[in-house]
Amino acid sequence: MNLLNSSSAEWGDWRWQYGNRLRRPEDLAELGGGNDNLLEEWDRVSQVYPFAITPYYASLMDPTDRSDPIRRQCLPDIRELADIHTGQDDPLEEDRHMPVPGLIRRYPDRCLALATNRCAVYCRHCNRKRFWKQGNRRFSRSYFQGMSDWVAQNPSLREVIVSGGDPLLLPEAALDRFLGSLKAIPHLEVLRIGSRIPAVMPMRIDKQLVGIMKKYRPLWFNTQFNHPREITPEAARACDLLLTAGIPVSNQAVLLKGVNDEPETLRELFYGLQRLSIRPYYLFSCDRVKGVDHFQVAIPKGMEMMEQLWQRTSGLCLPRFVLDAPGERGKIPLQPLSRQDWPDMKRR
Ligand SMILES: *Cc1c(COP(=O)(O)O)cnc(C)c1O
Ligand code: SF4
Repeated sequence: MNLLNSSSAEWGDWRWQYGNRLRRPEDLAELGGGNDNLLEEWDRVSQVYPFAITPYYASLMDPTDRSDPIRRQCLPDIRELADIHTGQDDPLEEDRHMPVPGLIRRYPDRCLALATNRCAVYCRHCNRKRFWKQGNRRFSRSYFQGMSDWVAQNPSLREVIVSGGDPLLLPEAALDRFLGSLKAIPHLEVLRIGSRIPAVMPMRIDKQLVGIMKKYRPLWFNTQFNHPREITPEAARACDLLLTAGIPVSNQAVLLKGVNDEPETLRELFYGLQRLSIRPYYLFSCDRVKGVDHFQVAIPKGMEMMEQLWQRTSGLCLPRFVLDAPGERGKIPLQPLSRQDWPDMKRR
């Protein structure tokens, strides 16, 4: 990939990164090592689940290693088609919990706004793969207005999570306008952004963008690093810009087979995040969404790993391991069961 040898000025420009994403099987030819079957597989998979990879994210993988954890997260895999006729597109029933288009409400005090269906990199394990099919949508002003009007009419909501897709791919003016309209609602106390940009296109986080977000504090930023190798100097710079602007950064990792399902990998990930002052917030058990079956890790295995980490790792780097259940049931904590005996707590 000659793209990976571009001049450093271009490399650090997010528009260049976004515009030069690898999107066609031919773009990946070098990674196939001359294997025509692989090219054909990528073609078949991408007709159902498209792919896009920033040169930056591609540069994090070892091109010679097919089991590379970065590669597994971004390259199409034939196993995505295994449950094409049987899998569920929306097992969390998000679409049934939309009072107005784009707004998902599954909890009394908070809701989630889908600001766009675009992403810089399409994660193969994404639980909103159903969105990708809609192509590059541009949402209208009335779409955003509809969501903020509804929030304004529901005073029990105190927090809105602006997510997607990746909300940091919105034009700056649109992001500014939407956050501003939410901030103007008196009963909304807190805003949150959910974005994977720090891990997949960290150069997007620049002073101007942070300046917009900063106006709407308290604003919390949740991102998704899944592997310690994603924690690069570029990612550190992006998160530091947010943190020094007074925007706390938390991480929502997904437990993924072949990517991070080893206790040592998880520990390195959580330690690495803590070194950047990022709080590991959740570790999600992979949702049972169509096209991600090959990433599933058995829940008891996940719990066992968390239990191993529990005693040997600073509490500040331990996320809560959770399973998301349909509709209002929401996130269910999967607490490690302590193997130790309970201390003797006899009553006196
Ligand atoms: C996960 C989620 C939230 C946020 O839940 P927290 O536990 O506060 O992180 C809010 N709304 C929806 C629809 C969600 O899926
Ligand atoms: S960034 Fe988020 S929404 Fe986009 S593909 Fe990845 S997991 Fe899905």
